[in-house]
Amino acid sequence: MHSAGAAPGGAAGVSILGATGSIGGSTLDVIARHPGRFRVVALTAQSKVDELAALCGQFHPELAVIGDPAQEARLRALLRERGLASEVRSGSEGLLAAAQAQTAQTVVAAIVGAAGLLPTIAAARAGKRLLLANKEAIVCAGALLLDAVRTGGATLLPVDSEHNAIHQCLAGAPAGQGVRRLILTASGGPFRQCRDFSGITPEQACAHPNWVMGRKISVDSATLMNKGLEVIEASWLFGFPRSQIAVVVHPQSVIHSMVEFGDGSVLAQLGTPDMRTPIAYALGFPERIESGSAGLDFARLAALTFEEPDLERFPCLALAYRALDAGPASSIVLNAANEIAVQAFLERRIPFTGIAAVIAATMDAVSAPAPAAVSEVLEIDAQARRSAMAASARWAGTGSSGAGAAQVSR
Ligand code: NAD
Ligand code: MG
Repeated sequence: MHSAGAAPGGAAGVSILGATGSIGGSTLDVIARHPGRFRVVALTAQSKVDELAALCGQFHPELAVIGDPAQEARLRALLRERGLASEVRSGSEGLLAAAQAQTAQTVVAAIVGAAGLLPTIAAARAGKRLLLANKEAIVCAGALLLDAVRTGGATLLPVDSEHNAIHQCLAGAPAGQGVRRLILTASGGPFRQCRDFSGITPEQACAHPNWVMGRKISVDSATLMNKGLEVIEASWLFGFPRSQIAVVVHPQSVIHSMVEFGDGSVLAQLGTPDMRTPIAYALGFPERIESGSAGLDFARLAALTFEEPDLERFPCLALAYRALDAGPASSIVLNAANEIAVQAFLERRIPFTGIAAVIAATMDAVSAPAPAAVSEVLEIDAQARRSAMAASARWAGTGSSGAGAAQVSR
């Protein structure tokens, strides 16, 4: 399998962009279970320099990259103290080096947000086996990323659990032949049964019932924007229009997604909610490798239940549908506005309900033709961020940050 440029000893070189995050950590956990099979060649982190240095001590990458250039000297000092020989780089140039590292056959794109776009595209152009967790990259630049994969001769494998499940269910149906629809499952998040969204705190929003994740995706799960981004992601990855992509709320998070075929068969992928499962699938593909995740205990599964998503209580999902219908530039605006609004919510500058309001206002204000180059994606992204910041500031200025406890029940 991993032949081209195989690392010494036959182990495949893996570069992890966003190594200190939730996905990065789960990836390293799986890799550590297969020392003869994988070798970590590059690790990146934005600012957690001590964690990055500790990971270097454990995995001995050739290259360690800290996104924040101001931390580069400290990273060098920490590695020197420990007698570690990793080359140190920083900033966007360092991220690109990690994405293109000669000794990396596999690149795990696990940076959060549109910040991961350029290194993800670079890995695709360099022909890597690209394990995509960074959904914002494909939401912002779907056509351009797929072009880069094609022209670079890369292999794109989804890590997002829903898309990974669909990849597994489609195994016998190349190019989506005979597929009636894709069915993405959603847990519904911590506010699935919430009726009063005023006064929700970042702590409540980040307390996901089934998954432990980074803060941004946790808030996205609470607003259902995560599912909206995933519908857009699925449309690019598998080439289906919105009319063939359904969302169903499934609070137990046991079925990670499904494919319905023309003959009426529905294939589902099941498992415990543990990202090591889709990560191990993508790392090992087409072989199956041990992930360390627990198996499902069917005798203890009381029930698998399903319900329709409520677009009125969760307007962010409706906004994502609107973006998908409006064309590629609109997805960039949606994503950028969401990143700004989520940050403002996490910093307690706007209330939970302000997130959808800021995104809607930004989508009303910013429009553009479909981007023909990555530079145009970045321009639309920057314009949308400016507009969303102004919308957040307007909201914060009204002082309607909402007090009182949210009525949350699960
Ligand atoms: P996280 O916040 O835990 O980690 C993010 C990583 O990216 C960290 O290593 C951080 O240092 C790095 N990073 C942050 N900002 C950066 C920047 N500006 N430049 C360079 N690096 C930066 O996030 P996560 O939960 O691991 O999610 C990572 C990606 O995977 C997201 O796109 C998310 O949507 C996707 N994803 C996550 C999960 C999950 O279970 N956590 C599931 C599916 C998809
Ligand atoms: Mg997902």
